[in-house]
Amino acid sequence: LLMAYEPAKRLSRMRVSLESAFVGVQMMFEILDRPDSMADPADAVALPHGQGEVALRNVGFTYDGKRPILSDLTLVFAPGRTTALVGPSGGGKSTIMSLLLRLYDPTEGHVEIDGTDLRRITRRSLQQMTAFVGQNTFLFSSTVRENIRMGRLDASDADVERAARSAQAHDFIMALPSGYDTPVGENGIFLSGGQRQRLSLARAILKDAPILLLDEATSALDNDSEALVRDAIAEATRGRTTIIIAHRLSTVMGADDIAFIEGGRLIEQGPLRELLERPGKFAALFNKEVSGKAPAGAEAEAVVEE
Ligand code: ATP
Repeated sequence: LLMAYEPAKRLSRMRVSLESAFVGVQMMFEILDRPDSMADPADAVALPHGQGEVALRNVGFTYDGKRPILSDLTLVFAPGRTTALVGPSGGGKSTIMSLLLRLYDPTEGHVEIDGTDLRRITRRSLQQMTAFVGQNTFLFSSTVRENIRMGRLDASDADVERAARSAQAHDFIMALPSGYDTPVGENGIFLSGGQRQRLSLARAILKDAPILLLDEATSALDNDSEALVRDAIAEATRGRTTIIIAHRLSTVMGADDIAFIEGGRLIEQGPLRELLERPGKFAALFNKEVSGKAPAGAEAEAVVEE
């Protein structure tokens, strides 16, 4: 692990946006129990246990110093609620997620948790406050049990199993050749996309952080898998401030609030029902999705993006 530390530091300095690498680096820091290579400022604070309100305030952002990607974006995510980020491809949803993960800092304005600027929160504290579930679940070459335990290293086997049950993963794990002791990762058993997502959700549930950041996988899942992932997400989001880049209509329908992002700006935000009652961009997109993709009486399977 120590040998892995130097490359991890380099990766971190490069601000790699590759999600799996980020998760790997983040987890390695957790394991090594030592500070991130990006030093905290001297006045950085460990965040007190608050409500978990997340906010972008007048945020502007550019990757290259020229082309604005986000412009004067103010977006408040209410504590304990689940907000689905939707909108056309290229609108800035992933960029918002990157700012929340502090892979980048905004060029203008600031991002805050419970009123404190992320730049003033120690990285360790920020890491403890948030759980991230991305599109590509990073699996260590270890057992299923240890991979879930990455969520909280001091968790007991019973805690791991409880989290796996909540994430709808227990049954498939028990059907593996050695159950929770089955090796996964590079030389381990192959897991389907839906199974990997549920392992990742089990980790997040085990971590029990007040803020959950989720980039839902775009890969197609069969109907059974999708229903299980949907239930796992419902369980993982319960009682947390959740921000989710939603690719599935069922996820949008399960969210408390919708934020429609286009061209780096917030176009509309509010509860699903309210947005559907106005003739806005979200209602148009939603109705197109529902009428175009869903067979009568069945649940639409797909993408809320254009
Ligand atoms: P999608 O739904 O397709 O993932 P999105 O709404 O998440 O899109 P972003 O991925 O945030 O949108 O992209 C917003 C804009 O920023 C796009 O024009 C994209 O090309 C650009 N962009 C994204 N990541 C980078 C990067 N690392 N470097 C430079 N430009 C980037």
